[in-house]
Amino acid sequence: MKNDSGKKVYIVDDDLFSLKLMASLLVRHDFPVVEIYQDAKLVLDVLAAEDGFPDLVFLDLNMPGMDGLEMIRRLGECGYSGGLILVSGQSERIINSSAELSRVHQVNIIGTLKKPVNTDALSKLLGKFKSHGEVVVKRECHYSVDDIISALEHKQFINYYQPKVSMKDGTVKGFEALVRWAHPEHGLVYPDQFIYLVERYGYIDDLTKLVVKNAIDDFKVIGGRDKLQLSINLSMLSLINPGFMDEVCRIIDAEGMSPHHFLFEITEGKVLDDKRQPLEILTRLRLRGFGLAIDDFGTAYSNLDSLNDFPFEELKLDRKFVHNVSQGGVNLEFYNATLSLARRYAMNIVAEGVEHHEDWLFLKNTGCDFAQGYLIARPMPMNDINSWLMQWKEQFSIISLKQRG
Ligand code: C2E
Ligand code: CA
Ligand code: CA
Repeated sequence: MKNDSGKKVYIVDDDLFSLKLMASLLVRHDFPVVEIYQDAKLVLDVLAAEDGFPDLVFLDLNMPGMDGLEMIRRLGECGYSGGLILVSGQSERIINSSAELSRVHQVNIIGTLKKPVNTDALSKLLGKFKSHGEVVVKRECHYSVDDIISALEHKQFINYYQPKVSMKDGTVKGFEALVRWAHPEHGLVYPDQFIYLVERYGYIDDLTKLVVKNAIDDFKVIGGRDKLQLSINLSMLSLINPGFMDEVCRIIDAEGMSPHHFLFEITEGKVLDDKRQPLEILTRLRLRGFGLAIDDFGTAYSNLDSLNDFPFEELKLDRKFVHNVSQGGVNLEFYNATLSLARRYAMNIVAEGVEHHEDWLFLKNTGCDFAQGYLIARPMPMNDINSWLMQWKEQFSIISLKQRG
């Protein structure tokens, strides 16, 4: 059921008084509430059962059972694409951190409200939601499990490749395989539209195997491939099943390729949560000679020292910190800290998402080892790799010339 404004709104708060107060405030703002929940778990059940998400959720942070923070994570995991407004009596720092958590989980946060809710603050946020909330829809398509199975069967998943280059001398170290869905009706669909669903439906291992097989086939037609390394993104879920990586290794071996040709990337926050099984699997991969990288570094708030427990040889600094690093500020501070951490643990550092020449020069001059990003090349289909390789030396020398000029 939707309200007069055509919007479906949920309020989630264990405190009945707060629920009723918020409901009455929304009515006064011409936003009649459709559904109220005292238990966050119920909301997830409704989301799983219903066809379509609400447009806006008001979420209390402090709740017994599942609290607001877990709810934020779950909303992110299920691909919730509506707006979120956090409501809490907690300190501003806690509310701000929770808002940041929503961003990290790619939940479209409209804003935060401090309890007791002030009606002016509420109308401001509702105005913001009406004008922007609907535009920021990240995941328009919700593919079914049958769509995913059919895409896997028909091998509709293909790899694009983005080069990783040495900042020192421009040597192409390798390519990162980035999966796309060549959808017969929707065109090229990007991973943020389907990876979370593939994981949720339990088909991520099948997808990873397809990505590896495609990478092996594609690799065979790249010139000078012996010196190149292929980076493959691994879902943390694939490190829970002890047999899965053995299977991947068998595929690689059967194709006559060496472990040195492969590097697996694992996202920071995901790897450090529960480390027993991943630690065994990752250490075994290193023993066999595969490369290992910690991906999106900086996006999770993990214990930095526990990094040393994992045998990573490469640290990929998230593009959020790379963008405008040359301008100083927080990004520069984080970059400096990351650089010294990488040196301490003898890891190479890769700057992700290098787009600006100033950032390239700055990173190069401060000893960053490798770079990826639109300045070097956008992810490209396999057929474009050889021509990109042929012009890269010249492109690199132009970047170097600019440095001298
Ligand atoms: P990621 O591993 O961090 O990959 C880098 C993403 O940043 C890619 O997005 C890439 O296209 C984009 N990118 C690269 N350079 C720039 C730049 O200069 N500026 C900007 N704005 N973006 C840049 P993409 O291909 O959409 O992939 C998104 C994420 O999906 C990846 O993030 C990775 O976490 C996941 N993913 C991709 N392929 C696979 C896969 O085969 N398996 C799994 N499990 N995850 C995958
Ligand atoms: Ca990656
Ligand atoms: Ca990354």
